[in-house]
Amino acid sequence: MDTSTLITGQFDDYITERERSFLDKVSAFCRTEIDPHTARWEEEERLPREIFEKAGQNGLVGIAMPEKYGGQGLSLTAFALAIRELGKHDPAVALDLAAQNTLGVGHIVAFASEDQIQRYAVPQITGEWIGAWALTEPNAGSDTNGMETVATPKDDGNWEITGHKMFITQGRTADVLVVMATTGTTPKRRKEISAFIVEKSQVEGIRKIPTYGMRASETSEIRLNNAKAELLGERGRGQAQALELLDKGRIGVAAMAAGIAQASLDIALRFSLERHQFGRQIADFQSIQNKLADCAMELDAADMLILKAAAMQDRGMKTIKESAVAKLYSSEAATRICNRAMQICAGRGYSRDMAIERFLRDAKICEIGEGTSEIQRIVISRNILKEAKAALEAE
Ligand SMILES: Cc1cc2nc3c(=O)[nH]c(=O)nc-3n(C[C@H](O)[C@H](O)[C@H](O)COP(=O)(O)OP(=O)(O)OC[C@H]3O[C@@H](n4cnc5c(N)ncnc54)[C@H](O)[C@@H]3O)c2cc1C
Repeated sequence: MDTSTLITGQFDDYITERERSFLDKVSAFCRTEIDPHTARWEEEERLPREIFEKAGQNGLVGIAMPEKYGGQGLSLTAFALAIRELGKHDPAVALDLAAQNTLGVGHIVAFASEDQIQRYAVPQITGEWIGAWALTEPNAGSDTNGMETVATPKDDGNWEITGHKMFITQGRTADVLVVMATTGTTPKRRKEISAFIVEKSQVEGIRKIPTYGMRASETSEIRLNNAKAELLGERGRGQAQALELLDKGRIGVAAMAAGIAQASLDIALRFSLERHQFGRQIADFQSIQNKLADCAMELDAADMLILKAAAMQDRGMKTIKESAVAKLYSSEAATRICNRAMQICAGRGYSRDMAIERFLRDAKICEIGEGTSEIQRIVISRNILKEAKAALEAE
């Protein structure tokens, strides 16, 4: 069963002809450049730099970025479907490219000066450079007010940053990083956060953090000691910029979760038809059919939520709630789907001979990264309560 053919047929109504042909190329890229190496990359717990160079050359960095910067100029819907496809083949590659598209490159293209875009975003889009995005710290996870990294202005117009960042995807290997740091205190007595661009030479890599899933992805701990930095956008706007970017980023995480779920369901479907017990294919047993049905239903629901949020973004609408809903539902559904798929494949699914155990481990990060499920629930409830309050007041 060649699952790579599923993507374009299934989503044709939501994309243009040009996007369809781009996604066909993404599928081909996954089959030729990724599939033959995935097991080895997982074993070695690393991704070679060349895969990112090739990804850039094939338009996979800057998918929704303007063509004048070398991007593909495609919709966020096409971006989400590309990440979904990558997630089906190798979630670690999908994670790194999703983060680079929406956060690493996305932050620079959205808020930096034209000169900074040319120097720091364009080389990433072409695949020459790798980029990372560094917000999280030992004492600043969900709550950025715990941020201890400090940026100090210098006489030459540049800044110096000192601090410690945790869990940064590609943090040690990136040629350029967008780094969040405090630049003072707001009138509400919260940390004033600004975004900066930092080059690799200024970063001290501490270690690759060993992780439960996404083992090939470089989850890094890094330190900055008086690192030379350039302000990115307006001082004090770092938090607001990050929140805006995360509305896109969360759609990417949701799409990656859907890709992981799709891959696990495809394996379970094939196994149900091929595995025989009690003289019948296990697909004949109703309890197996029920699991498959639940997987298909939840995956469809996840895809619809992703397409809805992405379509709203493509129309220039705000998607704070919709992005959170898509990420929350898709990520939790992906874990459930991978779990059911493993149950269907039983001993073989649990063994490392099959990819399901990896997909199950990889899926979990979607419930944590770019805002945990608990934080998504806060975002959603805050939004609907605000709307309800406004409606009540208008009565
Ligand atoms: C593989 C991987 C890659 C990552 N990549 C990046 C990256 O590239 N860049 C980057 O900046 N970060 C990255 N992160 C960090 C990630 O975004 C954080 O792990 C995440 O935001 C949660 O922060 P935390 O782990 O510090 O958990 P904490 O914020 O300490 O949360 C601990 C628990 O408390 C809960 N909690 C916290 N606050 C509340 C609340 N108000 N109400 C209810 N529950 C609450 C959380 O939901 C969680 O269950 C990555 C993490 C991993 C594991």
